[in-house]
Amino acid sequence: MSSSSGKAPRFPLRLDQLSGGAGAPARQALLRPQAPVQQAHADAARRAAPSGLGLDSADVRQRMVQRLQAQGLQHAAVAAALAEVPRHVFVDAALATQAYEDTSLPIGLGQTISKPSVVARMIELLMHGASARAAGSLGRTLEIGTGCGYQAALLARLSRQVISVERLKPLHDKARDKLASLRLGNLRLVYGDGMRGHPPNAPYDSIIAAAGGQALPPAWLEQLALGGRLVAPLQEPLTHRQVLVVVDRHEGGYEHSVHEAVKFVPLKSGLGA
Ligand code: SAH
Repeated sequence: MSSSSGKAPRFPLRLDQLSGGAGAPARQALLRPQAPVQQAHADAARRAAPSGLGLDSADVRQRMVQRLQAQGLQHAAVAAALAEVPRHVFVDAALATQAYEDTSLPIGLGQTISKPSVVARMIELLMHGASARAAGSLGRTLEIGTGCGYQAALLARLSRQVISVERLKPLHDKARDKLASLRLGNLRLVYGDGMRGHPPNAPYDSIIAAAGGQALPPAWLEQLALGGRLVAPLQEPLTHRQVLVVVDRHEGGYEHSVHEAVKFVPLKSGLGA
């Protein structure tokens, strides 16, 4: 069994507690058929993005999006955001030529920027939460693990407001510098321990974690709005495999589903230098 619902989750929330057993991960029928990506959307993104040669060209991003669509990305707004945000700006110059390949890359201090296909998948899952579906937007979003800031920039294009928390000060500072040029007025970067969520702006319609532990921190579930959705990597207790977990909060309680295996950096508590 890979999905369950209940009034209040037991804390801390481990996968065996979520499902009442380790449970084989299985894809859930969470995703209903989606509208095909419209060419007009892609064209609009192309027009909006700066044109030029090499990495600054919208074409190189558009080709990345086409590859992601061939792998299963369907959501038009997610595709448009991926076509607009310049990923190469967020990685070191020496790695910039790899920025549009489907690969994770080091961003310093032992951390990595996630593969575009994983970023796309997680944001697409978020877009299928009840509130996001109804509003056509992620609404108020909490990201745990700003890292280089790339995913935060994508989220800002799909949300009303984004709070992104990072526990490593040098990464928080670097992300702020990189994001400044994009002028995203609805994005706020917070230096702090994301395991506590960010109470001042709670509740959140969407919560996304870019680092995974053995349990979901209670604060995330408490700060999830009714109708909201959380997407996070989580370790399976028996296999120690990390899998993507989706948690939805509704009137009756919390409901979760377990998805494919992933590889994220560890979720750590406290602040780093
Ligand atoms: N979304 C990021 C991915 C960064 S990797 C990007 O687009 O680049 C995951 C990040 O999570 C790392 O920077 C790591 O320092 C951070 N992290 C781990 N535990 C954390 C915690 N408790 N609070 C905030 N950030 C955390």
